[in-house]
Amino acid sequence: MDVISIGEAMVLFTPETSGPMRYARDYTSRIAGAEINTLIGLAKLEHETGWISRVGSDEFGAMLKNAVRGEGVDVSEVAADDEAPTGIFFKENVYGDHVRVHYYRKHSAASFLNPESINEAYLSEGKVLYITGITPALSDSCSKAVFQAIEIAKKHKLTIVFDPNIRYKLWTEEKARNTILEIAGHSDIVFPGTSEGEFLFGTSHPEKIADALHELGPDTIVVKKGEEGAYYSCLSKKEQGHAEGFRVKQVIDPVGAGDGFAAGVVSGLLDGLSLKESVTRGCAIGAMVTMVNGDIEGLPDRKTLELFLSSKSDVSR
Ligand code: ATP
Repeated sequence: MDVISIGEAMVLFTPETSGPMRYARDYTSRIAGAEINTLIGLAKLEHETGWISRVGSDEFGAMLKNAVRGEGVDVSEVAADDEAPTGIFFKENVYGDHVRVHYYRKHSAASFLNPESINEAYLSEGKVLYITGITPALSDSCSKAVFQAIEIAKKHKLTIVFDPNIRYKLWTEEKARNTILEIAGHSDIVFPGTSEGEFLFGTSHPEKIADALHELGPDTIVVKKGEEGAYYSCLSKKEQGHAEGFRVKQVIDPVGAGDGFAAGVVSGLLDGLSLKESVTRGCAIGAMVTMVNGDIEGLPDRKTLELFLSSKSDVSR
């Protein structure tokens, strides 16, 4: 297994019409979850990936498992819970571009992930443990599961990659800051965004964010700068620099860019590319995700990625 991750996935419902949801009658459903987005991105690039999670023993749980398995991610460590349901959420387009997100995830099956959910034999077979700051925010037992996974990963010398992905709605600012910094301290590679740098260290300056995170221990930091690309810094290889973002004519849906970006960087590193080349792959995939509706739909396979990187025209004939 190349990359293993632990986290919740949910079914997302989007009303077909804009306006308050009390008037909505028809919905589109999709699967959603930061960790599965990244795992699916990696699977599309032909890396072996595995997802550790819990879903309800219900139709939405089956939907999630089928969809994630269908994208090539191993789901053998996804438990089905008879007591708790699969989490769902809604994105309500209240007016204009104003979107309200409604979560029905409290006490969801995934919120009962716990240290026993982490199978040491399974995790020890991986090369990379990929974690986000969402999982520890779900519940105390989820937080413990993440720290258990970190401990096992360290014992078996997996590379720990961490995307803070701070969800302010899920926990208090103090708990978020403390836990994120603690996990960052255990990680080898961290992918903060500039606004997360502002929250954690009071600066949105990429170099300063990277320096502050290096102080905690991680060797490699990649700071995401939205459409401008990313700043990277690796202490052991003495590699620092900026990778430019790719120009996107029209952003259709910006959500999921960060997860695609993570897939690109990790994929590049697994392929033996330099940090700069890996970050460029991340920027390309982040940009591609913004051009398509949905979080996973824009994630490219290798052929499509090559096409994007080499294309001079927007039309493929
Ligand atoms: P998310 O919305 O998924 O949480 P994020 O805040 O973690 O995203 P971003 O910085 O928005 O991360 O995006 C990650 C990467 O994707 C950027 O570093 C950039 O390379 C690429 N990207 C994002 N938005 C754009 C854009 N509008 N144009 C070009 N590239 C983009």
